[in-house]
Amino acid sequence: MKIAELLKKETLSLSFEVFPPKTETVFESVKSATEEIAKLKPSFMSVTYGAGGGTSKYTLNIAKNIKELYGVPTLAHLTCVSSSKETVKQKISELKNAGIENVMALRGDIPADMQDADKSQWEYHHAVELVRELKNAGDFCIGGACYPEIHPESVNQKKDILHLKEKVDAGCDFLTTQMFFDNNLFYNFLYKIREAGITVPVIAGIMPITGANQVARAIQLSGSFMPQRFKSLVDKFGNDPLAMTQAGIAYATDQIIDLYANGIKNVHVYTMNKPHIARKIQENLSDILGK
Ligand code: FAD
Repeated sequence: MKIAELLKKETLSLSFEVFPPKTETVFESVKSATEEIAKLKPSFMSVTYGAGGGTSKYTLNIAKNIKELYGVPTLAHLTCVSSSKETVKQKISELKNAGIENVMALRGDIPADMQDADKSQWEYHHAVELVRELKNAGDFCIGGACYPEIHPESVNQKKDILHLKEKVDAGCDFLTTQMFFDNNLFYNFLYKIREAGITVPVIAGIMPITGANQVARAIQLSGSFMPQRFKSLVDKFGNDPLAMTQAGIAYATDQIIDLYANGIKNVHVYTMNKPHIARKIQENLSDILGK
């Protein structure tokens, strides 16, 4: 099923993200974690793509597995930076042959050792180029990433939103946000992109923080603002893994309820491949979701 169709429905959606293994040795354990998550029958599941494409075959295998064995619609991620046109063409045709209908078109992070490289010879510079290519390659439903707190490389939000509009106009059917911990930042972002003429559905991305060590990583990745309420929770429970898990799930649940209550219909949870976290969040919302 195309995710754009699913997002048109009046009902609330809760979807989950998983990531592929980095090596063959852990493939089976990651596959079984993703299957546990698929058994929860989320609205859809996304499978990320390892930077540089080294794990691309796992993304495809896991996405195909979830779809075929559990009937859960899947969204396969694909990145383009530091790839050749030929490689990307090949990946797109593999997705098509595997019957994957939904693709998240991403630029990918520029690898640390390539930050200062001469980029003039690169075949891709921005996700918009991949969106155009997917649009020409077939009948894909295409997603794009967006950043309520500005993409870290952007000089300001106005420019970031201009580039986002260009990406949507090239063919994105929906957007998914970077994680955020303060819903007001997301609501403000929505006003601004709607004002800029971006009308596609926006899925809110929520990351349950269940370990104190995740906090620094999350801030580094997303540059997200941490509200005082959230910092207090980490200060108090950060050294107690069970308490931190419970508090992190409660915080994420609270964020999701506030989003649904304020008219946001679609929420995507970054599960970090942890079935118990996905399960608990879904249970916390069972009556709200009617499950
Ligand atoms: P772009 O849309 O290209 O934007 C990147 C920057 O370039 C922004 O600052 C933008 O304003 C600017 N820009 C865009 N177009 C232009 C232009 N024409 N001219 C000048 N500047 C421009 N990474 C992975 O490696 N694998 C994944 O599976 C993955 N999944 C993700 C899922 C979500 C929901 C999100 C939010 C991020 C994900 N990422 C993933 C991380 C993502 O690859 C990085 O954030 C990356 O730095 C930017 O990717 P993008 O697709 O948003 O890039």
